[in-house]
Amino acid sequence: MPELPEVESLVEFLRERAVGRAVQRVEVVAFQALKTVDPPVTALGGLTVTGVSRHGKFIDLDIDGLHLVIHLARAGWLRWRDDLSGAKPVRPGKGPLAVRVRLAPDDDGAEPGFELTEAGTQKRLAVYVAADPASVPGIARLGPDPLGGDFTPERLGGLVGGSRTQIKGLLRDQSVIAGIGNAYSDEVLHAAKMSPFKVGATLTDAQIAGLYEAIVTTLREAVERSRGLAAKDLKGEKKSGLRVHGRTGEKCGVCGDVIREVSFADSSLQYCPTCQTGGKPLADRRLSRLLK
Ligand SMILES: [Zn+2]
Repeated sequence: MPELPEVESLVEFLRERAVGRAVQRVEVVAFQALKTVDPPVTALGGLTVTGVSRHGKFIDLDIDGLHLVIHLARAGWLRWRDDLSGAKPVRPGKGPLAVRVRLAPDDDGAEPGFELTEAGTQKRLAVYVAADPASVPGIARLGPDPLGGDFTPERLGGLVGGSRTQIKGLLRDQSVIAGIGNAYSDEVLHAAKMSPFKVGATLTDAQIAGLYEAIVTTLREAVERSRGLAAKDLKGEKKSGLRVHGRTGEKCGVCGDVIREVSFADSSLQYCPTCQTGGKPLADRRLSRLLK
């Protein structure tokens, strides 16, 4: 799933290629992906892309004052195409293609554009056309951006300090902090040497400061690594840059202990016992509950 760093580089990638070009047509192949009816997608035809920005994990194309907002969800991806002139219309219900955006042709006749695809059977990719991006429900409820100028250790303290929720859950809650998901929350907690099960309200000021540093450094480094990569290369880069997430059974690069996995909410998390939990493996609470 693309998180803040990957979405940030997709945004930069699109900005370089799409800004200044007119939209020729937006083809919606997977009807369930389009979450708005007014304005219609046809309203974008003929208008020029004037900017591309990010809100949390949302991509926002400013198209002459209208906004095409994209959320890639778990299995969605964006693929740039240098020439869509030969691309045939696709019948709904066949294959991963969800939306195709055709931009105005180049002088040489090539029709650049991009496609949104979604693998798997769970269709969560979402596209919105809105006059105001803040009207998109997922954007309206976003917490502060961890790479934004107003994100400080004090702000983080205010967000997690009084909470009875475990820090792993807080970090990936988009209404607390925008843009961090399952992968980067594992990475942040490993960098902060903090147990994912630690409760927000129990964090000391020093631990908040350490967590803040880990959030900003982990995300900045990931953004740097993905910067300039083509959209198709981003997934591989994300995987190779992760230190604990998705690495169950491998050795921790910091201490050499074996990286472990434990279930958390609707998925699982990875962590290093020596770095994060005083050497003790975390109990799988769902499993131990079942055994009682
Ligand atoms: Zn370790």
